Amino acid sequence: MGSRSVIGRQIADYRAEHEHEILAEFCELLRHRNVATNRQDIASNAEAVSDALRRRGFDVQLLDDGSDCPPCVLGELTVPGATRTVVFYAHYDGQPADQPGWTTDPWTPTVRSGSTAAGAADVDWQQARTVDPEWRIYARSASDDKAPVQAMLSALDALRCTGNAPIVNIKVLYEGEEEQGSPHLSGILSRHREAIAGDLFVLSDGPQHPSGRFQLFFGVRGMTGLELTVYGPTRPLHSGHFGNWAPNPAIMLVHLLAALRDDDGAVLIPGFTADVRDLTGAERAALTALPGTDRAIAAELALGRTEGQDSLAASISRPALNLRGIEVGAVGERAANTIDTRARASIDFRLVPDQTPDRIRDCTERYLADLGWTVVAADPDTATLAAHPRLVKAEWQSGYPAYRAGFDSPPVCALIESVTRAIGVEPLLVPMLGGSLPLHTIAATLAMPVVGMPIANYDNNQHGANENLRIGNLWAAIDLYAQLLVDLSW
Ligand SMILES: [Zn+2]
Repeated sequence: MGSRSVIGRQIADYRAEHEHEILAEFCELLRHRNVATNRQDIASNAEAVSDALRRRGFDVQLLDDGSDCPPCVLGELTVPGATRTVVFYAHYDGQPADQPGWTTDPWTPTVRSGSTAAGAADVDWQQARTVDPEWRIYARSASDDKAPVQAMLSALDALRCTGNAPIVNIKVLYEGEEEQGSPHLSGILSRHREAIAGDLFVLSDGPQHPSGRFQLFFGVRGMTGLELTVYGPTRPLHSGHFGNWAPNPAIMLVHLLAALRDDDGAVLIPGFTADVRDLTGAERAALTALPGTDRAIAAELALGRTEGQDSLAASISRPALNLRGIEVGAVGERAANTIDTRARASIDFRLVPDQTPDRIRDCTERYLADLGWTVVAADPDTATLAAHPRLVKAEWQSGYPAYRAGFDSPPVCALIESVTRAIGVEPLLVPMLGGSLPLHTIAATLAMPVVGMPIANYDNNQHGANENLRIGNLWAAIDLYAQLLVDLSW
């Protein structure tokens, strides 16, 4: 304990003495345009990141899946005597920055005295004697997701200059195509499984908890998508001449959809929840301990009610069926008194462990058959239409399963304890985020637990105009990484 807090102070002192240097290096990194569809830009980012790692003694490789894809930068720093290896993930590519509303050029990092939204002014940080942690750097990828890259580089500088050595082997895996949906990540992981191998995968991406408290997350929901088409007559019919006799696909579709999900979000498909792994007692307790922001969010959104009795955090730990859209006929001035030929709906399923897209597909199609629907995979011909009272085309989008690491494996326990020591307070433990990321693929391919450790401020405008990082968050991340590297053991 004593030695840890001594190191903590040394790191903080180092950082205070080198703030300008750290910011200068970070700004340099942010000047590289990094939209993954531009291969030249991506190559220059990969090179800049590789060079920065090599300067810190890393062995660096650029990993691809055998195709000409944006590479993952893999850096490896072996520590004599260390028995554990921690893989730190971030991504060096960013969202396009062509949204209207950028106050300054997204590729010219600009420091302001606070949030632009609150009217903060530009600051000449290079001339300033000290840097206020409330200042923010405005640039594309300042928070999402080059901040963890800079924080790791500076954490290692801090350790070296203060005479402290990491006690774990360090690998960094910096992806170059995350904002394009990581189309080559699973190929890269399987092809280079040996090179990336380790004991714990720590992913720094996205913002901290809305309460401003530090959070770790241990999973994400999976997903799969379904497009449904229901068929009526082969040509649009006059509703006066044919109503009550020729079935209307709009009405058939509405009945079908109503049979899938109730008004409180419960999915009515038999077997849908059969594979759901219950939350453990510790996970349930962690959910209950999360700060209550539901009331404020509901008020902000003018929600007259919420679905079911659960909190938002508990609700997104359950699987969900969402209706993305319905397409049939027209309304308002364009409404016509017709019975249309077809009606379509688009659905997304959010999955939790241990549901799989295949099993969801099976039980959904079986249920539709039980409800009297004949399920087809392609548009039917007229003979098929005439032979079946209820035809539905089901087109499934390939999805992926959810992931939840749990809190109790030794490396995960060690991380929670080490983060608690580093920040001086227990972090919020979020069993799973509601959104979807292919964490299951990472964990299954690399056979190690994956934990999310976001470092950016919640109001960072990620993906939008005026993306920013609060400088205090960068300082905290440097302190955190440095302390983890000298403390994490199991
Ligand atoms: Zn990101």
